Amino acid sequence: YNMLDKVAKTLKLKKAEIDILTIPKRSFIFSLPVIMDDSTTKIFTGYRIQFNNARGPTKGGIRFHPELDLEDVKTLAFLMTLKCAVVNVPFGGAKGGIVVDPSKLSEGELERLSKAYIRESYRFIGPETDIPAPDVNTNPKVMAWMLDEYEKIVGRHAPGVITGKPIELGGSYVRDISTSLGGTFVLKEIVKEFGMKPEGTKVVVQGFGNVGMNIARLLYEQKYKVIAVSDSKSGICNENGLDIKQVIEHKKNKKSMKGFENAKEITNKEILELKCDVLIPAALEHQITKENAGRIKAKIILEMANHPVTPDADVILEKNGVFVIPDILANSGGVVVSYFEWVQNNMNYYWKEEEVVSKLEEYMTKATKGLESSCKSFRCNMRDTLYIIAIDKILQAERLRGFLR
Ligand code: GLU
Repeated sequence: YNMLDKVAKTLKLKKAEIDILTIPKRSFIFSLPVIMDDSTTKIFTGYRIQFNNARGPTKGGIRFHPELDLEDVKTLAFLMTLKCAVVNVPFGGAKGGIVVDPSKLSEGELERLSKAYIRESYRFIGPETDIPAPDVNTNPKVMAWMLDEYEKIVGRHAPGVITGKPIELGGSYVRDISTSLGGTFVLKEIVKEFGMKPEGTKVVVQGFGNVGMNIARLLYEQKYKVIAVSDSKSGICNENGLDIKQVIEHKKNKKSMKGFENAKEITNKEILELKCDVLIPAALEHQITKENAGRIKAKIILEMANHPVTPDADVILEKNGVFVIPDILANSGGVVVSYFEWVQNNMNYYWKEEEVVSKLEEYMTKATKGLESSCKSFRCNMRDTLYIIAIDKILQAERLRGFLR
């Protein structure tokens, strides 16, 4: 955790404090046998790390990805811990996943795999213990399967065990777009502070999954000029702005960005180096590294993916005056609405869409406003400032519990 090293020095953290912040509470590795459609059995590997629970039950998504390993899950669970503290929802942090490429599985295989994950983990999760949610390559459908398996095993309804569920099963309005919508509220504040206006502000979005696609659409609707977007295979670019509604339609029909009219084709890597005002990495981690950081021409980076900028790239960006809005703030709208979903499940009373939107805006604006002056008083960039704020809250909770003096 290179980032923590820097903040640890600024805050003069003691060894015990650093240990509490960097050693996960509980780590699980599961082996998940699944009967495939051809009747063979395949064993998949699943992970769950419950990183820190001082501020509340642990919280964090489950991702399906062929290259996932325990170290990634650990970093992402650490970030969830900070994220929940930054936006002030009463959760600790966790993350989980399965090593799998879900596009290679049939619907039935995917359902059996999702349910197998819960059969191995049900003892350790729960509405008051650890609450999973969607992440990369998982969605409300997967959450519904997982919820069903959990409820079958424990023998009662327990909608608060998992968030990001379909509305019909206790999901919340707005959760499907909450990460992206939250990001737009953060960006609104920052753009204001920069003396810019949405109109004419040039935006580039890397990644066209749930987060990338929705933020591109929302910003397009808010009159930002989205000049380039990409998915994992390819990208498209038009200096005069893309019609994102049409891009979504095209991608839905053709399963690809390729062949979109009035746009230049561009690779997923090249897109990061375009000249623009706001660059939005919304795909996977480690996209901006020391190798390409020097070629980034954006004014602002809004980190909608988790951990898209490596710590050594951060140093280069700061030197070049690129303003980075860190993941633990930028993409925290997801977990904020997960918190609202869990609250609604716990009281069994459901809010209207407008109510969720205005509460989300309130949380995001509160976490963003005044950050500029905190950065100045700590003499730190935004990431270090947010780390300081989050670490202070987590350590205070540990202290009150009696684990630190
Ligand atoms: N997977 C999302 C994230 O990385 C949401 C987690 C949650 O809602 O628990 O923030």
